[in-house]
Amino acid sequence: MRNVLILGSTGSIGTQALEVISASPELRVVGLAAGRGWETTVAQAREHGVEVIGLADRDAAARAGEAWEGRVLAGEEGVRELIGATEPDLVLNGIVGAAGLASTVVALTAGIDVALANKESLVLGGELVMALAEATGAQLLPVDSEHSALHQLIRREAPGTVDRLIVTASGGPFRGRTDLDEVSVADALAHPTWKMGGRITIDSATLMNKGFEVIEAHHFFGLPYERIDVVVHPQSLVHSLISLNDGSTIAHLGYPDMRVPISYALHYPERMPVDVPKLDLAAVGSLTFEEPDPETFACLRLALEAGAAGGTAPTVLNAADEVAVAAFLEGRIPFTGIAAVIERTLEELPARPVTHFEDLFATDAEARERAAAGVRELTPA
Ligand code: MG
Repeated sequence: MRNVLILGSTGSIGTQALEVISASPELRVVGLAAGRGWETTVAQAREHGVEVIGLADRDAAARAGEAWEGRVLAGEEGVRELIGATEPDLVLNGIVGAAGLASTVVALTAGIDVALANKESLVLGGELVMALAEATGAQLLPVDSEHSALHQLIRREAPGTVDRLIVTASGGPFRGRTDLDEVSVADALAHPTWKMGGRITIDSATLMNKGFEVIEAHHFFGLPYERIDVVVHPQSLVHSLISLNDGSTIAHLGYPDMRVPISYALHYPERMPVDVPKLDLAAVGSLTFEEPDPETFACLRLALEAGAAGGTAPTVLNAADEVAVAAFLEGRIPFTGIAAVIERTLEELPARPVTHFEDLFATDAEARERAAAGVRELTPA
């Protein structure tokens, strides 16, 4: 029996993880945490026989405490305390945003394995988080489809044989276009393959999400940026590839379904059945690939540059992106303003080395302020 703590249980990854766990007698949920969706969290706790939950929002936690007989931990510290309170074998970190980094650090410090769906843990904290995992022997397992594919491909290869990682990108709703000045919020939210939340859908439209994934892949697998490629693959059936030293290139294929990488991470190193349709290549017909366009999709270029600069640069990139995407969704800046705000913020805050997690939180706050000023300059009076 493997005891799993799910952080971010009401989100897309969390709810699908609960589905996978319901279908797996060898997995048990021992705790659940969410932001403010207390009714859903309490319902999930009842369904899975969970005795303790965490809610980052204190009002939501108070309401859950009144409505439910179990134990409720309140606030972001409460969510982190849940790790000690439930002593899980594995933490699935599906928290959205920088708050997820702290939970990854708490779990790894305690030597607990982490199935990682929180991007910030590696985009912001990659250098420190990987060193921490190394020091305590806790394992980090990817949940994102691309990194899960890479993990599955790499795990059987001897060290030193992997030449390149090839991360696939759907290309988003604006693939092939070069004029993005006039695109609307509704256009940008219409993702062709994956159904996701607001910010990540915009990050997919700008290709920033792919940039983040390259940064994560660099930390997860320890390859330098010049050996990680991005290729646009609109069918989203090839989830990533690796090239080896003997000229072989191996791909991971499947229909897009997050339950597959979630199940892989929860069961690792075992594989368990997942009820998904079998890949029918003849019905698919053809798979196509094209070069990404880093000029139109400047966010991808900015992410790769920030990744290569290292230190605080990816933290600045992420914070500026979050502020700029929120401004775009509110109709305050145009779509192309997202990259403009990020570029300006990166120029204003050159990369510094990171030695403590506190450096990241200070940089994050500073970058948000600078980015907000950048947004105000772009906002029509
Ligand atoms: Mg992905």
